[in-house]
Amino acid sequence: MKVFYDKNANTSLLRDRRVAVIGYGSQGHAHALNLKDSGVDVVVGVREGGESWRKAAAAGLKVATVEKAASSADLVILLIPDETIARVYREAVEPSMRQGATLAFAHGFNIHYGQVVPRSDLDVIMIAPKAPGHTVRSTYTGGGGVPALIAVAQDKSGSARDVALAYASAIGCGRSGVIETDFREETETDLFGEQAVLCGGTVELIKAGFDTLVEAGYAPEMAYFECLHELKLIVDLIYEGGIGTMNYGISNNAEFGEYLTGPRIVTDDTRAAMKATLHAIQSGEYAKAFILESQAGGPTLQSRRRLTAAHPIEIVGAKLRAMMPWIGQSALVDRAKN
Ligand code: NDP
Ligand code: MG
Repeated sequence: MKVFYDKNANTSLLRDRRVAVIGYGSQGHAHALNLKDSGVDVVVGVREGGESWRKAAAAGLKVATVEKAASSADLVILLIPDETIARVYREAVEPSMRQGATLAFAHGFNIHYGQVVPRSDLDVIMIAPKAPGHTVRSTYTGGGGVPALIAVAQDKSGSARDVALAYASAIGCGRSGVIETDFREETETDLFGEQAVLCGGTVELIKAGFDTLVEAGYAPEMAYFECLHELKLIVDLIYEGGIGTMNYGISNNAEFGEYLTGPRIVTDDTRAAMKATLHAIQSGEYAKAFILESQAGGPTLQSRRRLTAAHPIEIVGAKLRAMMPWIGQSALVDRAKN
């Protein structure tokens, strides 16, 4: 597998081009600010009068409506929620985009599952940073970058891949590594990773551990530190040096417990559930559920957010974090700004 770095990118491809970043949320604010700091001409396209308009203008960026931003740009990247992309593309972006311009995504969902069928004169590319948007920004300002995947779905100009690589480099990803893939592989592995391990698996593991201790009569504060707070400290070691470094840093006692108990928690049943999860992603069954959820007005998202907020781990967590003010001082997320 080939990994590209800044030295492989022809950043002059973006020099005389204007980029319209549609959306100023998690990814949008990070791409817009990183591109601008890399010397690219950027305009942010958002809804007039929305929160994002205020935030992007306050950050010193050019701001316009989605239509005006899209019609003024050579490259348009859609950084709004996946479930809104098809409609916004159809109504505001496609009718505005210049002939032969480049349409870009940060996730392959809408192309791979046929929700967006792009105009045939466009180049269609993906630049998918492998990190939350707030980390894309904080890593860049710290002099680093997060890894990214790039892919090409339509190449009318013959330079689609080079433009994707130049864009990845301009948002900082060429500092840590850019891998070329295709829309299918990115979409399916991304959905699997976040569902089985990163978000779905991890959150349920944390809650199950916390609930087990609390139900057995231990203090919720203890359970919070053991099952949530310390997870970051362990993951930091894994991130830095792999599983071996983590095992080197923990006690022999913890390491022995890992070997004895880990496979009792993540069992053959868990692995079978992972395979079923992957199958639902590959078959489009998951995509259909997500699209229907959005068409129904997001009932599952809304009720699950409410239930999560009421879970004792969130309540005790907020109280304990307030006693650790240094956590907030280096906050990645500031809801008033990004
Ligand atoms: P967000 O949920 O953070 O996007 C919010 C932005 O979208 C706001 O600017 C909001 O504007 C705007 N918006 C919402 N609805 C509409 C609409 N109907 N019309 C116009 N603007 C709208 O998105 P993410 O950054 O999470 O995701 C963007 C893309 O990046 C997705 O394809 C996602 O899969 C991908 N991605 C996301 C990652 C992440 O870290 N979150 C990681 C890697 C890829 P307003 O203030 O006006 O409501
Ligand atoms: Mg994702």
